[in-house]
Amino acid sequence: MIKYNLKCECGNFFESWFSTSQEYEQLLKKNLINCIYCQSTKVCKSVMAPNLSNKTKKSYENKKIQKNIKKKLLEFRRYVEKNCKDVGDRFPQEARSIHYDKKNSSSIYGKATPEETQELLEEGIEVSTIPWPDKSEN
Ligand SMILES: [Zn+2]
Repeated sequence: MIKYNLKCECGNFFESWFSTSQEYEQLLKKNLINCIYCQSTKVCKSVMAPNLSNKTKKSYENKKIQKNIKKKLLEFRRYVEKNCKDVGDRFPQEARSIHYDKKNSSSIYGKATPEETQELLEEGIEVSTIPWPDKSEN
Protein backbone atom coordinates (compact mmCIF):
# COMPACT_ATOMS: atom_id res chain seq x y z
CA MET A 1 0.00 0.00 0.00
CA ILE A 2 1.14 3.51 -0.79
CA LYS A 3 -0.20 6.60 0.89
CA TYR A 4 -0.41 9.69 -1.24
CA ASN A 5 -1.09 13.22 -0.15
CA LEU A 6 -3.49 14.59 -2.72
CA LYS A 7 -4.29 18.17 -3.49
CA CYS A 8 -7.61 19.17 -4.98
CA GLU A 9 -8.41 22.14 -7.22
CA CYS A 10 -10.43 23.51 -4.29
CA GLY A 11 -7.20 23.91 -2.34
CA ASN A 12 -7.75 21.18 0.22
CA PHE A 13 -5.37 18.35 0.95
CA PHE A 14 -6.35 14.80 1.78
CA GLU A 15 -4.70 11.43 2.09
CA SER A 16 -5.56 8.37 0.09
CA TRP A 17 -4.25 4.82 -0.01
CA PHE A 18 -3.47 2.90 -3.18
CA SER A 19 -2.16 -0.63 -3.64
CA THR A 20 0.36 0.53 -6.24
CA SER A 21 1.37 3.74 -7.94
CA GLN A 22 -0.09 2.27 -11.16
CA GLU A 23 -3.45 1.92 -9.44
CA TYR A 24 -3.30 5.58 -8.56
CA GLU A 25 -2.52 6.52 -12.18
CA GLN A 26 -5.38 4.36 -13.49
CA LEU A 27 -7.94 5.67 -11.01
CA LEU A 28 -6.84 9.20 -11.78
CA LYS A 29 -7.21 8.62 -15.54
CA LYS A 30 -10.72 7.21 -15.07
CA ASN A 31 -11.64 10.14 -12.81
CA LEU A 32 -12.28 7.76 -9.94
CA ILE A 33 -10.45 9.74 -7.29
CA ASN A 34 -12.76 12.22 -5.67
CA CYS A 35 -11.91 15.06 -3.37
CA ILE A 36 -13.33 14.28 0.08
CA TYR A 37 -14.33 17.92 0.44
CA CYS A 38 -15.95 18.89 -2.87
CA GLN A 39 -16.11 15.59 -4.80
CA SER A 40 -14.07 17.10 -7.63
CA THR A 41 -11.96 14.69 -9.65
CA LYS A 42 -9.38 17.35 -10.43
CA VAL A 43 -6.86 16.13 -7.91
CA CYS A 44 -3.15 15.57 -8.12
CA LYS A 45 -0.35 14.23 -5.99
CA SER A 46 0.90 16.80 -3.57
CA VAL A 47 4.63 17.07 -3.07
CA MET A 48 4.30 18.61 0.34
CA ALA A 49 2.22 17.02 3.07
CA PRO A 50 0.04 19.60 4.84
CA ASN A 51 1.24 18.67 8.32
CA LEU A 52 4.84 19.01 7.20
CA SER A 53 4.29 22.55 5.99
CA ASN A 54 2.68 23.40 9.33
CA LYS A 55 5.73 22.11 11.16
CA THR A 56 8.07 24.17 9.01
CA LYS A 57 6.03 27.26 9.70
CA LYS A 58 5.98 26.56 13.42
CA SER A 59 9.74 26.13 13.73
CA TYR A 60 10.20 29.33 11.75
CA GLU A 61 7.92 31.17 14.17
CA ASN A 62 9.69 29.64 17.16
CA LYS A 63 12.98 30.92 15.81
CA LYS A 64 11.48 34.36 15.42
CA ILE A 65 10.16 34.32 19.01
CA GLN A 66 13.53 33.13 20.33
CA LYS A 67 15.24 35.94 18.46
CA ASN A 68 12.84 38.47 19.98
CA ILE A 69 13.41 37.13 23.48
CA LYS A 70 17.15 37.31 22.95
CA LYS A 71 16.84 40.90 21.75
CA LYS A 72 14.89 41.84 24.88
CA LEU A 73 17.44 40.09 27.10
CA LEU A 74 20.27 41.92 25.36
CA GLU A 75 18.49 45.24 25.93
CA PHE A 76 18.07 44.29 29.56
CA ARG A 77 21.73 43.31 29.81
CA ARG A 78 22.80 46.69 28.39
CA TYR A 79 20.51 48.44 30.88
CA VAL A 80 21.99 46.50 33.80
CA GLU A 81 25.55 47.15 32.61
CA LYS A 82 24.84 50.86 32.32
CA ASN A 83 23.05 51.29 35.64
CA CYS A 84 24.65 48.75 37.94
CA LYS A 85 28.14 48.05 39.15
CA ASP A 86 29.82 44.90 37.91
CA VAL A 87 31.32 43.06 40.87
CA GLY A 88 31.99 39.84 38.98
CA ASP A 89 32.70 36.80 41.13
CA ARG A 90 32.54 38.88 44.32
CA PHE A 91 28.76 39.17 43.89
CA PRO A 92 27.76 37.14 46.99
CA GLN A 93 30.11 39.17 49.26
CA GLU A 94 29.07 42.49 47.74
CA ALA A 95 25.37 41.59 48.00
CA ARG A 96 25.88 40.77 51.68
CA SER A 97 27.75 44.00 52.38
CA ILE A 98 24.94 46.00 50.74
CA HIS A 99 22.34 44.08 52.72
CA TYR A 100 24.01 44.34 56.13
CA ASP A 101 25.77 47.69 55.66
CA LYS A 102 22.84 49.90 54.72
CA LYS A 103 24.87 52.96 53.72
CA ASN A 104 25.96 51.32 50.46
CA SER A 105 22.86 51.07 48.37
CA SER A 106 24.17 50.92 44.83
CA SER A 107 22.87 48.33 42.48
CA ILE A 108 25.28 45.61 41.61
CA TYR A 109 25.42 42.64 39.32
CA GLY A 110 27.80 39.77 38.97
CA LYS A 111 28.19 36.05 39.01
CA ALA A 112 27.03 33.61 41.65
CA THR A 113 26.61 29.88 41.67
CA PRO A 114 23.10 28.48 42.23
CA GLU A 115 24.23 27.47 45.76
CA GLU A 116 25.44 30.99 46.54
CA THR A 117 22.20 32.46 45.20
CA GLN A 118 20.22 30.07 47.40
CA GLU A 119 22.26 31.10 50.47
CA LEU A 120 21.67 34.79 49.77
CA LEU A 121 17.94 34.20 49.43
CA GLU A 122 17.89 32.24 52.70
CA GLU A 123 19.56 35.20 54.41
CA GLY A 124 16.74 37.41 53.14
CA ILE A 125 18.90 39.18 50.59
CA GLU A 126 17.01 40.13 47.50
CA VAL A 127 18.71 38.71 44.43
CA SER A 128 17.31 37.75 41.11
CA THR A 129 18.74 35.44 38.55
CA ILE A 130 18.49 36.61 34.99
CA PRO A 131 19.48 34.91 31.77
CA TRP A 132 22.62 36.56 30.50
CA PRO A 133 22.69 36.44 26.70
CA ASP A 134 26.02 36.31 24.94
CA LYS A 135 26.58 39.48 22.95
CA SER A 136 28.79 37.77 20.38
CA GLU A 137 25.98 35.56 19.10
CA ASN A 138 23.45 36.99 16.74
ZN1 LIG B 1 -11.91 19.65 -3.50
